[in-house]
Amino acid sequence: MEIIERDFYARDKEDQQAFLTQTFCNTCLEMDLGMVEPVEYEREGVVYIEGKCAKCGDTVVTEIADDETDGEWED
Ligand SMILES: [Zn+2]
Repeated sequence: MEIIERDFYARDKEDQQAFLTQTFCNTCLEMDLGMVEPVEYEREGVVYIEGKCAKCGDTVVTEIADDETDGEWED
C-alpha cells in the first residue's frame, strides 16, 4: 500500500483552518475539538489529514472525499 506525502501547508489558509477545526475524535467522541501537528498524505487515491486531538492528544484522521484541490478533473 503506497503512501504519498502531501504538503498540508500548501493549502489555502482558510482550508487549513477548516481542516484543523472540523475534526472528530474517536477517543473524546466529540466533534470539532481541533487537531494539532497535521500531516497530509494520500493512500489509494484518498487524501487524509492526520494530527493529534487538541484535547486529548490521540490521533485524529480526517478523510477528504472530494478531489477539488487536485484539479485533475477539470474538463
Ligand atoms: Zn480527543
